[in-house]
Amino acid sequence: MRKLMITLSTAALLSACSGNVQNNVEVASEEFTYQVEKFADLEILRYKVPDFEELSLKQRTLLYYLSQAALEGRDILFDQNGKYNLQIRRTLEAIYQNYKGNRDDEQFKALELYLKRVWFSNGIHHHYAEDKFRPGFTAEFFNKCVNALDPQLLPLKEGQSVQQLIDELTPVIQDSTYMAKRTVQSGNDDLILASANNYYDGVTQDEVEAFYGAMKDPKDEKPVMYGLNSRLVKENGVVKEKVWKVGGLYSEAIERIVGWLEKAAAVAENDAQKAVIESLIEYYHTGDLKQFDDYSVLWVEDLGSHIDFVNGFIESYGDPLGMKASWESVVNFKNTEATKRTEIISDNAQWFEDNSPVAKEYKKEKVKGVSAKVITVAMLGGDCYPATPIGINLPNSNWIRAAHGSKSVTIENITEAYDRASAGSGQTKEFAWSDAEVAMLKEYGFVTDNLHTDLHECLGHGSGKLLPGVDPDALRSYGSTVEEARADLFALYYLADKKMVELNLLPNGEAYKAEYYKYMMNGLITQLTRVELGNNIEEAHMRNRQLIARWALVNGGKECVELVKRDGKRYVVIHDYDRLRELFGRLLSEVQRIKSTGDYEAAKRLVEEYAVKVDADLHKEVLDRFAPLNIAPYKGFVNPRYVVTTDNNGVITDVQLDYTEGYAEQMMRYSKDYSSLPSVNK
Ligand code: ZN
Repeated sequence: MRKLMITLSTAALLSACSGNVQNNVEVASEEFTYQVEKFADLEILRYKVPDFEELSLKQRTLLYYLSQAALEGRDILFDQNGKYNLQIRRTLEAIYQNYKGNRDDEQFKALELYLKRVWFSNGIHHHYAEDKFRPGFTAEFFNKCVNALDPQLLPLKEGQSVQQLIDELTPVIQDSTYMAKRTVQSGNDDLILASANNYYDGVTQDEVEAFYGAMKDPKDEKPVMYGLNSRLVKENGVVKEKVWKVGGLYSEAIERIVGWLEKAAAVAENDAQKAVIESLIEYYHTGDLKQFDDYSVLWVEDLGSHIDFVNGFIESYGDPLGMKASWESVVNFKNTEATKRTEIISDNAQWFEDNSPVAKEYKKEKVKGVSAKVITVAMLGGDCYPATPIGINLPNSNWIRAAHGSKSVTIENITEAYDRASAGSGQTKEFAWSDAEVAMLKEYGFVTDNLHTDLHECLGHGSGKLLPGVDPDALRSYGSTVEEARADLFALYYLADKKMVELNLLPNGEAYKAEYYKYMMNGLITQLTRVELGNNIEEAHMRNRQLIARWALVNGGKECVELVKRDGKRYVVIHDYDRLRELFGRLLSEVQRIKSTGDYEAAKRLVEEYAVKVDADLHKEVLDRFAPLNIAPYKGFVNPRYVVTTDNNGVITDVQLDYTEGYAEQMMRYSKDYSSLPSVNK
């Protein structure tokens, strides 16, 4: 589950990481501009793909085909996030492209801003906070713009008039109480009915739980991930799945994905990789989740290929019940030099498992095939675009992880872009307690951050086991937060271990303190910049970070860590790093127990008590302190553009990357070239 999003990067330090710097081809690297543009609470960046030119033509051609397959699924995600999203996006794009009035007009500017946010979120709800955007333009302006367009340009449903389209979309855009939240993760309401996403239609939470409960067999040692690739609907009183596959729901997009995958299979690096791609194609054709497991096993066992990719219905954060997966893609290749670091970690995986503070009965006797590498992404798609993970650990199937291991990656060209772009932002200076912490973060921030990601993905998610018969979904809506906490705590606990210095992963026994300080500062204070005043914390990774930091603050006592007020501003002060490590170990042990035994009540208590609620007074203070820094709380990326040269016979003779495309330009191109789904998907 497993995708790690960036923590608010603090240290602004030039990267000491290997692999990216000494590329003699990249004379222009000095001038590479990471920043693209800023709007609302977002900053758009660009990432570099170092060493792309070093790859063979065949490898670059494979990356090109996979990158096209990555872009073809964009519409699927829009539709998954809400059933009006495609219609709204296309209507706004038609206005954006054909508006004849003054483009500096305030109403038009507001509509443009709204469209940019819709692009970023792949829908009308905030990508992280889940709540609906409030448009700065009026219903009248929208009405006027739509009526001014040639109806041919509008995404009208069959038999729908222009006025009917306007009447249908206006409350979806304007009424803040209607479809208010994309995913409702907790509370007393029916989570399915309260969520505006499009994973379910006409069914209640009880009906969903009954439907999938009946499918599950506790004795099945290799259960498929039920419900992963379908919408659950009620038609004529019957609850049934509409499967996302060729010939099923989303067929138009999936057929195109398959078309590119077929080309990719023909230029695969080796037979193992070819088998992986063909197996995925087979799954897209059948929609059979058993086939998806077969594919996942092949994928996790393909360790020899230089190029790798994720493409499919993968992560279930968007479903309050954690079953339905959003579509995503990440195309990448190995950063061989930096991977030496993660290989050291995975070579010692059994030692880490054996020596963790977790009770013996919840540990894996034999850690299987934890493979870890550092990668360079070459294309992001679906739920990984424009907001991007910095680490991924897959597959998500528990039995496959136990029997075949998992692949874990740290995406270093993304962490590097974050780091370079945030240089000199002033955030650390504002929020760190003293010059000592600032210096520490500057010196060790980047290296410990990357190591934290390695440990989180490679060891954290892969560690521990469920007791026999425990339902992997037992923690329900608290499952994602608990899982992220487990992985973070594993990483935090070991960052301070002397083994890190012994293995040459850290330069000395003090460096880990940079990550401890940053983690506490972020979990207690700085991450609140991402939450609107008055709201609770919703997103699983953010909940996890506050859970860990608050729990340690409350249970460690004043002599360990405290929030100290100076000149009306609160700061994290850590007095006893050793004790803080013990606390992380204690909480890790408890969180693993909860996961291993499926203790729903304990998960609920822990999350509700520490992870969800925000101290309103502190929250306001944090927002006030951030305001003058002018830092966007969320960042995302534009992709490079693939420039393909062919000969007279259409044979590819060269593939290069172009880094000049702007944000709106890229979005409009994607909507034109990679948009095959009808606006309404039934
Ligand atoms: Zn994670």
